[in-house]
Amino acid sequence: MNKEIPYKIYLEENELPTQWYNVRADMKNKPAPILNPATLKPITIDELSPIFCTELAKQELDETTPYFDIPQEIRDFYKMYRPSPLVRAYCLEKKLGTPAHIYYKFEGNNTSGSHKLNSAIAQAYYAKQQGLKGVTTETGAGQWGTALSMACAYFDLDCQVYMVKVSYEQKPFRREVMRTYGAKVTPSPSMTTEVGKRINAEHPGTTGSLGCAISEAVEAATTQEGYRYVLGSVLSQVLLHQTVIGLETKAALDKYGIKADMIIGCAGGGSNLGGLISPFAGEMLRGEADYEIIAVEPASCPSLTRGKYAYDFCDTGKICPLAKMYTLGSNFIPSANHAGGLRYHGMSSIVSQLYEDGYVKARSVEQTEVFKAAEMFAKVEGILPAPESSHAIKVAIDEALKCKETGETKNIVFGLTGTGYFDMVAYQKYNDGEMSDYIPTDEEIAKSLATLPNV
Ligand SMILES: *Cc1c(COP(=O)(O)O)cnc(C)c1O
Repeated sequence: MNKEIPYKIYLEENELPTQWYNVRADMKNKPAPILNPATLKPITIDELSPIFCTELAKQELDETTPYFDIPQEIRDFYKMYRPSPLVRAYCLEKKLGTPAHIYYKFEGNNTSGSHKLNSAIAQAYYAKQQGLKGVTTETGAGQWGTALSMACAYFDLDCQVYMVKVSYEQKPFRREVMRTYGAKVTPSPSMTTEVGKRINAEHPGTTGSLGCAISEAVEAATTQEGYRYVLGSVLSQVLLHQTVIGLETKAALDKYGIKADMIIGCAGGGSNLGGLISPFAGEMLRGEADYEIIAVEPASCPSLTRGKYAYDFCDTGKICPLAKMYTLGSNFIPSANHAGGLRYHGMSSIVSQLYEDGYVKARSVEQTEVFKAAEMFAKVEGILPAPESSHAIKVAIDEALKCKETGETKNIVFGLTGTGYFDMVAYQKYNDGEMSDYIPTDEEIAKSLATLPNV
């Protein structure tokens, strides 16, 4: 096929995927089951249902159904901002002088500014279907809370967000977007939950972590009638919803007869990466095609590259189910100077198993390099990227420069998960030359891993 490739490949509205793809159905080695922390036995739908919406609990545990229909109401909402463009990064290629062809799937084109809305709207929909009053959740820098507050406003659901304290105080803008959409935002650890009080007593003055905020949100959901807890990453149901990214990407590439050689995504809890790669990993798992898939994580929170593949708690308060994943230990908190997001201690169990089995590779990068890549990208491609997304940009640039040396014309596809307009404090640090790198020592990681549960 010799069609000229446009700067942006837009699918038609009627090419929006009608089903999500459950990559677990094609995995010979399934992710290990999540366990009830009380019994250490695989958790059942009945045990999950007090925490999660029933339909979402079913999706979480289903490892055999390959496709799930996307309900019409969700597809209608998706049409507000999807299909999202697959951009050929002509300007970046030119700047780098690389023979590689670089593509990025841009998920920042909605008010919440990231891919998280893809799952937020699905989770709000199932909560509404179940007749719930509202949902509780945690948020770190605020992208997930913002996405969820938009989704809840759309379906007229109450939305309670526990926001990591340091972000609540230092990142007022996303907090106010959430409040504008009607969410109630509480800094975590708070004194409004038992687990919050306990964490505050054990770690006086703590500025919080995602793990703490998860514990608080779960407690808030299980102690209020008509509420359930929703999570923006890590879980297999979230990864399922995010496959809309990969399915659109694959459709756009197929339309122009482009075969990706390399697929790169940033990895915090693994949802955008998992969603982007699922259809491609599915082809690898079925022996139909081969791709080089790279997960990129911060050197300051290196769960895949330096963590352990083991059962661990998903939250600091140890009240959530246990998942087998690459983890740094649920007590792990990245150093205070870390500004690039992707702070979660663990990794999606699906991504973890694919990594364990060699379908996914991982690389860690330091934040000053990440911001350097972000700056270059913003200048040539015109989008100010989220720090998280810039991890993928950094490795895409590295790979394109390798192609320049070898003369290879590889097709490099990466996920541009969001925009960075609300991350200007981090950009300010970078611009002022005040950003530094911190890589945890082996001792620090070992200390945190020593707290892994004995399963
Ligand atoms: C939350 C977020 C991420 C990381 O989460 P994953 O679950 O690993 O995808 C990446 N990029 C942006 C812009 C985010 O908001």
